[in-house]
Amino acid sequence: MTTTAKAYAAPAAGEPLAPIEIERRDVGANDVRIDIEFAGICHSDIHTVNGDWGPQPFPVVPGHEIVGRVVEAGADVTKHKVGDRVGVGCMVNSCGECDNCKAGDEQYCRQGMIGTYAATDVDGTTTQGGYSTHVVVDADYVLSIPEGLDPAAATPLLCAGITTYSPLKHWNAGPGKRVAVVGLGGLGHLAVKIAAALGAEVTVLSQSLKKQEDGLRLGASHYYATSDPDTFSALANSFDLIINTVSAKIDVSAYLGLLDRNGAMVNVGAPGEPLDINVFSLLTNRRTYAGSMIGGIPETQEMLNFCAEHNIGSEIEIISADKVNEAYERVLASDVRYRFVIDASTLA
Ligand code: NAP
Ligand code: ZN
Repeated sequence: MTTTAKAYAAPAAGEPLAPIEIERRDVGANDVRIDIEFAGICHSDIHTVNGDWGPQPFPVVPGHEIVGRVVEAGADVTKHKVGDRVGVGCMVNSCGECDNCKAGDEQYCRQGMIGTYAATDVDGTTTQGGYSTHVVVDADYVLSIPEGLDPAAATPLLCAGITTYSPLKHWNAGPGKRVAVVGLGGLGHLAVKIAAALGAEVTVLSQSLKKQEDGLRLGASHYYATSDPDTFSALANSFDLIINTVSAKIDVSAYLGLLDRNGAMVNVGAPGEPLDINVFSLLTNRRTYAGSMIGGIPETQEMLNFCAEHNIGSEIEIISADKVNEAYERVLASDVRYRFVIDASTLA
């Protein structure tokens, strides 16, 4: 028997979100039903509902940073039990059989991962995300929220946290590494916290110095405004790793010029339009320009445990569900410190 969830959905591209009721599938043998406590607002939600990434199966209930409690577990579920505090990120299933899935990189599943919303589920229905009262998910794609993490502050870790943790680990951020984070938003502020906790020397490259005090408090040692052209000459050839979290088109070549020999710039920001590169900015210093998409289930659990150990949560502003459209406007205006989280109890 399906259950009815209350939710907020975008009815069509670019239209404001509005209340809706959606059906959640019955709890299958390997599923859990989660009563949602908090859902984060990621800039990807906004790209999706605004049509930046192409046509979508509207209505779309966004939300891929989800924390709540297990209220029902299928007969075969051993990983989670009723009462556990759990999380769901950007993916709710994958083939589980291919080499990438077997390696724990389910986000790169060769059949394509199944996204938490606006994706075709295994039963042919369209997935609907976390701006809702409850959700039913295959237990293998559900994370454990460690004790000691505040549940609301942990919510953004499910996307923003893993998306920055994964490339920081892959490109060996740690002691002796000079890491720059471009954009101090949802992803950027967690990149700063995580990179600092890994022992790297962190620099924030933000459009202005407005958030400098915050950046230093979050763990950065240096903070520069990219609106100041002197920044690019002062910092030439001075980073080992740059994590670009910007949601819009930037002059990639100018940032590549900041990399030292063998340095890498990793794009996690996902603007819809193509970015231009002057190849000479890559040839110099044998630089790498790369990308990275979220992270697999094992690494997401590792990240949550790391954050619990290092007392890392997101800086959040908790809102009621009816403020979601206002929050979207503020994210688009870079006016977020540093993640909006919907209190899902305001949906009921
Ligand atoms: P966000 O909170 O809006 O942060 C983006 C930051 O980028 C802003 O706070 C701002 O920082 C900077 N920025 C915005 N517009 C800019 C512009 N025109 N020029 C220069 N800087 C600008 O967004 P988010 O949730 O962190 O997401 C960031 C991007 O990552 C989005 O494109 C999102 O879709 C993508 N994403 C990718 C993945 C993945 O798997 N790769 C996962 C999640 C999100 P300052 O004010 O400090 O300049
Ligand atoms: Zn996201």
